[in-house]
Amino acid sequence: MEGIQMVDLVGQHHNIEKELNEAMGRVISNAAFVKGPEVMAFAQELGAFAGSKHIIPCGNGTDALQIAMMALGIGTGDEVITTGFTFISTVEVVALLGAKPVLVDIDPDTFTIDADQIEKAITKRTKAIVPVHLFGQMADMTALSKISKAHNIPIIEDNAQAIGAQWSDGSAPSKKSGTMGLMGTTSFFPSKNLGCMGDGGAVMTDDDDTAAKCRQIANHGMSKQYHHDVIGINSRLDGLQAAILRVKLRHLPNYIAARQKAASYYDRELSAISGISIPKREARSTHVFHQYTLRIENSRRDALRAHLTAQGIPTGIYYPIPGHAQKAFETFRYDAADFDASSRAASEVLSLPMHTELSEEQQAYICDTLRNFD
Ligand SMILES: *Cc1c(COP(=O)(O)O)cnc(C)c1O
Repeated sequence: MEGIQMVDLVGQHHNIEKELNEAMGRVISNAAFVKGPEVMAFAQELGAFAGSKHIIPCGNGTDALQIAMMALGIGTGDEVITTGFTFISTVEVVALLGAKPVLVDIDPDTFTIDADQIEKAITKRTKAIVPVHLFGQMADMTALSKISKAHNIPIIEDNAQAIGAQWSDGSAPSKKSGTMGLMGTTSFFPSKNLGCMGDGGAVMTDDDDTAAKCRQIANHGMSKQYHHDVIGINSRLDGLQAAILRVKLRHLPNYIAARQKAASYYDRELSAISGISIPKREARSTHVFHQYTLRIENSRRDALRAHLTAQGIPTGIYYPIPGHAQKAFETFRYDAADFDASSRAASEVLSLPMHTELSEEQQAYICDTLRNFD
């Protein structure tokens, strides 16, 4: 079978081409390329979707993390607790600001930060806790919120992979990912669940003061034109991307449903194969399947991957090297013994093709090919 892709953006765009062209045409005809009405409208619509009072659009998901941390004044001498089993941005931004990323191992079932290990990592210097809602499923926000409250340490949710996921623990009305901490950050990189056609990102918060700080930081620290009160950065979402995102946001609920349907198909077909574990579900979170990630046991992951590649099936390894083992972070002298679950995940994970255009025929072929490996 030909043409199976990890992510099929060409196919997705083909199905909504008219809407996209119309949206882009609007921006071209009024030349509102930076800021402007599309960006404002998108911010409002995303706020309504997520249930967040303020959306601060910015240049990308990495900037969003940086803006959020700068809004908390994080810098030299500070510590930020997060996970190393993530895309590099989460950890990188902490170090870039001169603070220390204090890494905590993951819960092996969900691949998200192990909430039971957070309290022992807290010190007087801890300025934020940054859980990552990895692969489309939320970290334990019930436990994290409790810790945040008890120690008065704000949470920034790295929500680049789980936009639209929802947390319900029975004790309060359910909440969307990115809205449970003081701030949530996200990315609109093309392959994300809500992706644009270039780079984009956003910070979300319900707190007026924090929102004002984020807006100012993202705009050169400016209070009014050419009056710069704090050191900021230049990070903005452009009008074309906002217009594209408005179209795709309308389809996001259907896109999430398509991913969940594809995930259920994989679950059904793959759950009985020995040596392969299907993704475990956190009962309190919906899973929006940014990735469908298997664990392949007995050191057979790389051989299985080669077998799939040979049959024309692309796969991904997210992530092969956890943060504690990255060369760039050598100076922090992490002890590998503290990260057994992250290291094991890095050697076992294998993500299968997952996108909104995946057909059952393609999935059947992928599952047959997996079954035929020995
Ligand atoms: C993609 C991603 C980011 C960074 O987003 P960019 O828009 O690429 O800067 C940050 N954190 C996580 C978990 C991501 O998956």
